[in-house]
Amino acid sequence: MNTFESSPTLSDAPSTNRWSNSGAADPDVLRPSAQPEARQPAASPLQARQSASVQSTDQVDPRRWRGSLLAGAVADALGAPIESKPMDQIREVFGPHGITGLVPERDGIGGITDDTQMTLFTGEALIRAHARQRRAGSSDVRYSTQLAYQRWLHTQGVPWEKARGPRNPTAVPDGWLMGVPGLFKRRAPGATCFFALKGYGQTGEMGTFTHTLNNSKGCGGVMRAAPAALWSDDPAAVFEIGAMTAALTHSHPSGYLPAGALAVMVHTLVRGGSLADALAACRAQLYRWNGHEETTAALDAAVDLSGRGAPTPEKVGTLGGGNVGETALSIAVYSALATNDLNAALLVSVNHDGDSDSTGAVCGNLVGALYGEDAIEPTWLAQLEMREVVEAMAADLLAEFGPRPPADDRWATRYPND
Ligand SMILES: [Mg+2]
Repeated sequence: MNTFESSPTLSDAPSTNRWSNSGAADPDVLRPSAQPEARQPAASPLQARQSASVQSTDQVDPRRWRGSLLAGAVADALGAPIESKPMDQIREVFGPHGITGLVPERDGIGGITDDTQMTLFTGEALIRAHARQRRAGSSDVRYSTQLAYQRWLHTQGVPWEKARGPRNPTAVPDGWLMGVPGLFKRRAPGATCFFALKGYGQTGEMGTFTHTLNNSKGCGGVMRAAPAALWSDDPAAVFEIGAMTAALTHSHPSGYLPAGALAVMVHTLVRGGSLADALAACRAQLYRWNGHEETTAALDAAVDLSGRGAPTPEKVGTLGGGNVGETALSIAVYSALATNDLNAALLVSVNHDGDSDSTGAVCGNLVGALYGEDAIEPTWLAQLEMREVVEAMAADLLAEFGPRPPADDRWATRYPND
């Protein structure tokens, strides 16, 4: 383990359970036998920021990591045209199997949504916090993430002086993402994210695990959390950072715990783990948190359903609509477990009545990390909006969190402090 912030130490963290590393999607194998008593981590990697060591890792498979971000974006674009459309209507328009490929816009491009936009800003935030730690010896990753989301808010039409918040003296929003015109397109941003961040712009009040802003468990937290997978070699720290990014806007545990869960699953997969490994790692962290029951039950439901034959949109529908955190995670995990192919998983994850772009984005983060970028249907990748931006962010995250992070002026301009 090598984090620049200490991780929580819990005496009652689960030491063993029956989530095996077999790789089989067998519900009897994958279901835990008992749940230890939950508690909120007492010490937080967010609170101790004085450690001199900076985390890096060379254990990440770059093809799996790039696959995670790219497949997330591809599935976001796959699901975008059918978001919240009833399956009957989807079949009427696209045929009996529903959507079977990217539906390009008039310019031939498959458009991403706020899910991918915000994922890019999560990545930017983590790089900026980590680089600041290297340069200045201290950082506040929560604040860096808040400010990155305030920049996203600005891209969605809120003037910078209203978006930046009372503590930020920056006259104009900085960093390279601000120079990407495509990010300024409005793609139906989620109301919870939008209004929570607008509130920060006015008051400077940050949402945390203990300082709640609302009671939302919308899927806007989990859909943007994948970059937290690279934050640390320690799954507990990865979980907490992932959950932290979501708690800035979503105060219900089922709004932020699925984000931690996704981050830990991706963390496991990009290091070569199987889906069973990822589920076991995620479950081990979830148990430690108050309010995990809905999320763990949603994972149970996904595992159970995956043992019941071939996937159908109707089966997916029994897991929920994916518009809240735990069901978005559940549909994504089910789609991964019920298929043996990245692209098949993405199609399962978007063809249902619910929040198709978000369930797709989360599923893409998982199966991209499982199968790697080479498994993504090339014609979909070729049509993906801002493919090069997603690839650049994936590469930058690998560089910053790798063994030799850049220290040149170009990097400091690309990723300024805070
Ligand atoms: Mg969306």
